[in-house]
Amino acid sequence: MKSLEQRLEVLADAARYDASCAVSVADPRSPRQNELGIYESVGPDGRRLALLKILLTNECVFDCSYCVHRRSSDVERARFSPEEVVALTLDYHRRGLIDGLFLSSGVLDSPDATMEQLITVARSLRRNHHYFGYIHLKTIASCADELVAEAGRWADRLSVNIEMPRQADLDQLAPEKSLVQITRAMNVIRKEIDEAQSDPLPNARPDHADQDAGRRYRPHRRFAPAGQTTQMIIGATPATDADVLFAAASLYTRQKLRRVYYSAYIPVEPGMVAEAPPQVARERRLYQADWLIRDFGFSVGDLTPPGAENLDLAMDPKLAWALRNPDRFPIDVNHAPKGDLLRVPGLGLRSVETILIARRGSRITLADLAAMRVPLTRALPFIVAADHVPRERGSTVVALPGLRRRWQQLELFDRTADQSA
Ligand code: SF4
Repeated sequence: MKSLEQRLEVLADAARYDASCAVSVADPRSPRQNELGIYESVGPDGRRLALLKILLTNECVFDCSYCVHRRSSDVERARFSPEEVVALTLDYHRRGLIDGLFLSSGVLDSPDATMEQLITVARSLRRNHHYFGYIHLKTIASCADELVAEAGRWADRLSVNIEMPRQADLDQLAPEKSLVQITRAMNVIRKEIDEAQSDPLPNARPDHADQDAGRRYRPHRRFAPAGQTTQMIIGATPATDADVLFAAASLYTRQKLRRVYYSAYIPVEPGMVAEAPPQVARERRLYQADWLIRDFGFSVGDLTPPGAENLDLAMDPKLAWALRNPDRFPIDVNHAPKGDLLRVPGLGLRSVETILIARRGSRITLADLAAMRVPLTRALPFIVAADHVPRERGSTVVALPGLRRRWQQLELFDRTADQSA
């Protein structure tokens, strides 16, 4: 029997593969760095959180061929009991090392049995130990609806991994999983969240067991108040970026997911799955496209039109769209509506808001834009300002020699923005 520390080493390392709680390693100067399983992430409110990120077990009865924990994989196995996870979390919490727990698991005997153990951890922390730190629980997609609903009573955030954008991809790599089951679990979470938001009283009232816990128990909060997230693995099948983004956009609108995380496929064993090219650059472009769809008003069709179903790895998707649509530019920063400004390469959410306010008082010049920290080298070919007219509408940037090549080197987004719990 392995010691607790040996198992922690195995199960903290195993949890790294789950991207639905994106993390970075703790600051090397921090005392947390010396503790196993602690990662830094960004919480739902934007604050940095130190999380104990572990699996309950890396044993699994499923055999998803993209996963290092699959049944047929020859890896070192370990398992915690729910009581051990509770004790570990409380110990780290009391020592001031963590702000919360991310707990996932391989599938033990059955999805229901595994989910019950995950719930036992969260319920015990909340009800028996009055732990009010952050809890993110992984939900096993094929477990009973009642268990999904129960998990959200105790966790701040739930995630069900969709893994692949299409059923055909799951059939190929994870035949024991189905999109129907996965979306059903997401539906349960969305419905419970919607109900809790429209009528918080039922969830805010302690049940009998809670009352038994005594007056110190704080009435339980709303169902999964930090919402739900998911992860998609990129590059393990021929699915295009259009397939991936279409699935993600559908999850944002239908299931109201907070985030879809993309995880570049790493061949876990040569020969198990067809060798895939490096997917890390693709992962980054997908995060950028995802952000453009969520916050900038772009559609999946804008970013991956017919004939260009995969994002250009050499330039960010906003620039690629602008170069494909020269007739939409230049855009006058002193008159254009917000939706048009958001489509200008180099203009982010904050700079657009600043432009909208500033232009009420006077006409905006290039010096004003520079003072707003707008990257002019990126924006100039696409805008008209009080003292700048680049060229005739429609003749636009494709006519500028070397522009495409030069901008292939530029990046519009900061990767750190993608890390959240
Ligand atoms: S069910 Fe989860 S842990 Fe098990 S093999 Fe599939 S992806 Fe891996």
